[in-house]
Amino acid sequence: MTFSPETAADLAPRILAGERRALARAITLVESGRADHRAQATALLDRLGTAKKALRIGLSGTPGVGKSTFIESFGMMLVGQGHRVAVLAVDPSSARSGGSILGDKTRMERLSREPAAFIRPSPSQAQLGGVARRTREAVSLCEAAGFDVVLIETVGVGQSETLVAEMTDLFILLMAPAGGDELQGVKRGIMEMADMILVNKADGDLKPAALRTMADYAGALRLLRRRPQDPAGFPKAVAVSALAEEGLKTAWEDMQALAAWRRAQGHFDRRRAEQARHWFETEVREGLLARLVTDPAIRARMQALGSAVAAGQTAPAVAAAEMLAALQR
Ligand code: GDP
Repeated sequence: MTFSPETAADLAPRILAGERRALARAITLVESGRADHRAQATALLDRLGTAKKALRIGLSGTPGVGKSTFIESFGMMLVGQGHRVAVLAVDPSSARSGGSILGDKTRMERLSREPAAFIRPSPSQAQLGGVARRTREAVSLCEAAGFDVVLIETVGVGQSETLVAEMTDLFILLMAPAGGDELQGVKRGIMEMADMILVNKADGDLKPAALRTMADYAGALRLLRRRPQDPAGFPKAVAVSALAEEGLKTAWEDMQALAAWRRAQGHFDRRRAEQARHWFETEVREGLLARLVTDPAIRARMQALGSAVAAGQTAPAVAAAEMLAALQR
């Protein structure tokens, strides 16, 4: 795709007017690794500002647990309530698990036809750092385009869950009913990140197992250390059926109640501020590291100093100080 130098100036008003095609194009721009595209992406983000905010919800679960079915039903419900819903995906595996592409429109047929919804599948980008930046910037773009709920879907792979939790306001874990009374080997760290555990497929023959599983998780959550950002009763486990569209309204009310409580207590804004600072620092760090590789002069200096150190001509600390001084120029 080509982007003319006017791209930022052209796209900004269209995004602010909520035009989905312009939004899709802008996300393609932020996904690009080319230096000139990067400059345009930054210019665009600068023009759009950070005034509009959505409720950012992370949703994680292993393949087959019902993420796309849930997003379809949940998203349709939100659209029915007058919300504008954007769906983004973080997929760290290049070989996609279970053959499903996260955020794939064909998996969310009804929602993808809704004018008030925007669905963007995960790009085939292997590097988690790149995916993180792209997703963060895509969230900002969706917010600028007036989407007031942004759902970020990811699979149950440790690293990607942490990443999604670091860019969202609420983190939801979707689980399947378990056969026995075991907790499906959910890692403690992931349980600790969850604001809500939704046990899906609480319908038909699976309902008793789903209710049992829900009770097990509720018990496990009660054993976790109480977090300052939680009101009484949270994190909580509830049973839902994405397919039968049951329990979704209550789950949404719970999410809103939690967000409202955190807003009132100052946790919400504090977390946003911490996240913004974190991503700023990450960006600077990654930018500096990238310069070591991409800037020819810096690379040559690095190699020369490395050889001098290897040959015993310069002490590592002395060479490193010299290199760092060169980076500041
Ligand atoms: P994903 O891989 O996590 O996105 O899962 P999918 O949404 O593709 O669902 C996987 C399978 O579980 C599909 O066959 C769905 O029809 C089924 N499924 C999803 N939600 C429910 C539910 O609430 N109840 C039942 N019984 N099946 C469901």
